[in-house]
Amino acid sequence: MTSSDATAVVGELRDLFRSGVTKPVSWRRKQLMGLRSLLSEQADVFLKAVYADLRKNAVEAKRAEIALVRNEIDHTLENLDSWLDPEPAELPRTLRPGSGRVVREPLGVALIIGPWNYPLQLVLAPLVGALAAGNCAVVKPSELSPNTSAAIAEHLPDYVEGVRVVEGAIPETTALLEQKFDTIFYTGNGTVGRIVMAAAAKHLTPVTLELGGKSPAIVEPGADLAVTAQRLAYGKFANAGQTCVAPDYVLAIGGTGPKLAEHLAETVEGMFGEDPATSDTYGRIISTRHYDRLAALLDDGTAVVGGKADRDEKYIAPTVLTGVSPDAPVMQDEIFGPILPIIDVPDVDAALAFVNERDKPLALYAFTESDETKRRIETETSSGGLVFGAAIIHLAAPELPFGGVGESGMGRYHGRYSIDNFSHVKAVLDKPLA
Ligand code: NAD
Repeated sequence: MTSSDATAVVGELRDLFRSGVTKPVSWRRKQLMGLRSLLSEQADVFLKAVYADLRKNAVEAKRAEIALVRNEIDHTLENLDSWLDPEPAELPRTLRPGSGRVVREPLGVALIIGPWNYPLQLVLAPLVGALAAGNCAVVKPSELSPNTSAAIAEHLPDYVEGVRVVEGAIPETTALLEQKFDTIFYTGNGTVGRIVMAAAAKHLTPVTLELGGKSPAIVEPGADLAVTAQRLAYGKFANAGQTCVAPDYVLAIGGTGPKLAEHLAETVEGMFGEDPATSDTYGRIISTRHYDRLAALLDDGTAVVGGKADRDEKYIAPTVLTGVSPDAPVMQDEIFGPILPIIDVPDVDAALAFVNERDKPLALYAFTESDETKRRIETETSSGGLVFGAAIIHLAAPELPFGGVGESGMGRYHGRYSIDNFSHVKAVLDKPLA
């Protein structure tokens, strides 16, 4: 795609938006129903595509790529009218007589740039919000998941109006970013996030950056370590650890580390068998570059389970590492793969200090029975989301905002938060002339 192609695509959508066709709620509902039909009628196509890209098994893909988006659509269809209702705003006595209200109006043409790890969900879930708020959108799926990208490009336009799919890599994304959009929604890493934000600044375009980072899991004595291990392993090893909100590492308080490691080893074996390489439900690493990056981290501790890797297969075994130094390479950047280091810390104070000395994470998890510890974690740390007693599941709750803070991103979406994200929240004051 050249710059002039990008200009033409955006121009066409802008004309459509200016025609006013996207504003009625009936148009928005029709598009959401279209997305719903896309997901049911083309489910097999998408399941095959995400398998080809990531060896993501059908059960996991149905849940994370399809059902999650369908729930988001259903929740939005159910609540859209009330979310769009103008909100009355009381005026101060000095401005009366008169009335005030807050209305949500669509921004215009949105650009949605997706990543490869949940290549369908992370394109469609923002699109639900963009369309429900009455916008047109250009979507750019990730080139690193080419099968899903091609399936989106082939089928999405048959089911919705006001959306164009542009496939491609850096040149295509760069051509798009030169255009003036009314909002840009980017999911991916912070380096590209900065490129997106710099490009958006030229047009004063607002951005939502859904980034990543190291999401810690704090485990306190007294927590049921068998249950904790199961929930951590589910969050960590789904999609072979390539989940933005996967627990990145564990801070094991007061000697819980060794016992937790044992439970994790048992859990991993229960989930994927003795040799996860032969399991139908265990995924693969997206690219050789990411494989090489991850393989180099396997020696940063003692593997209580896993540790094996196969470059030809882009296979990294689900691995739990103990005896990891906070200075080890595995503790520097987001792991984004199936390696779970356990770091021993003496007490809650040390765990909180460990978290607060680092970038604000996208998610923070804590496994504890203590209300006092929960209170301290909630009030003394900052993270995109905070979950007690589980991992990664908060993104499936459409009433909860999903997004990061600081290095883990800016802006939030899901449910009503998506409507606000893709709308201008406008003040209207009406004062009688006489
Ligand atoms: P990626 O490499 O697929 O990049 C994302 C998008 O950026 C792609 O569409 C790609 O074409 C585009 N891009 C890449 N380089 C570019 C450049 N130089 N200029 C313009 N566009 C460019 O995805 P990724 O970044 O490898 O994804 C992994 C990261 O995403 C992790 O950090 C993860 O935590 C984060 N992530 C966050 C969320 C979230 O919801 N917060 C979800 C998934 C992934």
